[in-house]
Amino acid sequence: MQHYDSIIIGAGQAGPPLAGRLTAAGMKVAIIERKLFGGTCVNTGCTPTKAMIASAYAAQLARRAAEYGVVIGSTIDVDMKAVKARKDAIVEQSRTWIETSLKAMKNCTVYEDHARFESPKEIRVGNEVLSADRIFINVGGRAVVPALPGVSEIPYLTNSSMMDVDFLPKHLVIVGGGYVGLEFGQMFRRFGPEVTIIEMGSHLIRREGEEISTAIEDILRKEGVNLRLDAECIGFRPHADGVSVTVDCKEGAPEVIGSHVLLAVGRRPNTDDLGIEKAGIATDKRGYIVVDDQLRTNVPGIWALGDCNGKGAFTHTTYNDYEIVAANLLDGDSRRVSDRITAYNIYIDPPLGRAGLTEAEARKSTRNLLVGQRPMTKVGRAVEKGETNGFIKILVDGDSKQFVGAAILGTGGDEVIHCILDMMYAKAEYTIMQRAVHIHPTVSELLPTVLEELKPVAAPATNTTNATA
Ligand SMILES: Cc1cc2nc3c(=O)[nH]c(=O)nc-3n(C[C@H](O)[C@H](O)[C@H](O)COP(=O)(O)OP(=O)(O)OC[C@H]3O[C@@H](n4cnc5c(N)ncnc54)[C@H](O)[C@@H]3O)c2cc1C
Repeated sequence: MQHYDSIIIGAGQAGPPLAGRLTAAGMKVAIIERKLFGGTCVNTGCTPTKAMIASAYAAQLARRAAEYGVVIGSTIDVDMKAVKARKDAIVEQSRTWIETSLKAMKNCTVYEDHARFESPKEIRVGNEVLSADRIFINVGGRAVVPALPGVSEIPYLTNSSMMDVDFLPKHLVIVGGGYVGLEFGQMFRRFGPEVTIIEMGSHLIRREGEEISTAIEDILRKEGVNLRLDAECIGFRPHADGVSVTVDCKEGAPEVIGSHVLLAVGRRPNTDDLGIEKAGIATDKRGYIVVDDQLRTNVPGIWALGDCNGKGAFTHTTYNDYEIVAANLLDGDSRRVSDRITAYNIYIDPPLGRAGLTEAEARKSTRNLLVGQRPMTKVGRAVEKGETNGFIKILVDGDSKQFVGAAILGTGGDEVIHCILDMMYAKAEYTIMQRAVHIHPTVSELLPTVLEELKPVAAPATNTTNATA
């Protein structure tokens, strides 16, 4: 049996940097990857989708070229083989970099096989059993295939198999109105096909609150994405033209006929085939590994990082998990998951940048809640760019003067949100930003102005009727 100081299972977003820190600290490390180096983010998640979204943006801008006085003089067609080839090249570069740097890492042995616990300190990889004093689980998750009627009788796509699509489907039907469904939905509509998003709830991305959901629904509808909300009974059956999806919505036809179906109804952790029961590692009822604030499992010497611990579902939260574990183990720095502020983007166009609490959460937890809001039609930079969909909304605590949350749905919102996120980490009073001189012309330059116009949240909402114009 080969013994290591540390074994890392999964070369996703936490495993590789952790291997770097542990080996640099003099440990002998094994890292085990069963499939693709870089995991979901690099191969079937963030990187490829954002590369494809860039192609979709280019197509959309080309269609709008005349609005900018640019003459293209022909119809805009999308070559999906070229879109995929561009995406594949970007992914390949990232994956290869991770793989080669791990394989070149001194004191690090890379195993390419499925890992399974044999005991709290032993891992089986193929025919070998490895042992270690410390084991770090970074196994990520995969798309849920919901137990909906007829699902086993139809061909369906997930975010993983979407990566092989090098053709334009006639009509892509997406089940699930979360961020994965929205990103693929707008992207494929911009590539040309008919797209229908089916959502069981009354709104897309309901967590964001009605105002944001409605604005995003308007944006997508204006681009010709069909939305079927309140789809309470979803079922599938094969159809001569592809797949019939029964929707049973309050409005519209009872079924949608699509050439292809993408299931985007959530993710589940890869903990069902890891032998965790042999190690006695506790999971919750959805299979997420239970960890404390320093990402330790209930079994001494075993940690869980990234999507598999249910504490975050993003690359930046996974990477932060690595930072927390490394800080506690190697630096004597007691970083905690609870130090983290919720923040993420939804990469539709315009993007939604989010930090801190949603308005609904803030209303419950903040006594003296103040809100500032501005439609992107009143942001010079957005007007100049011809991208005026969306709005800026900032929530602050009138007593502590600290930021509570923000949503920036608008051009550059994915970057601008960091102005607020950093203030939140600094626990700084919003009055500091009020007096900051931001650069003109930018979206960020309007943040101090929005803060000048704060009102109690109970006051009548600022008029945002033209926010999505
Ligand atoms: C379509 C889509 C778009 C996304 N876009 C974004 C985005 O824009 N921004 C963002 O922050 N996040 C995004 N995410 C989420 C992001 O991809 C994940 O949060 C992130 O990849 C989680 O990293 P991880 O290391 O926990 O898991 P993963 O990246 O999934 O890595 C886990 C690794 O473990 C390996 N593994 C699993 N089980 C075993 C085993 N038993 N033995 C050996 N190896 C094993 C897997 O093969 C995999 O390589 C997106 C996700 C999807 C699906």
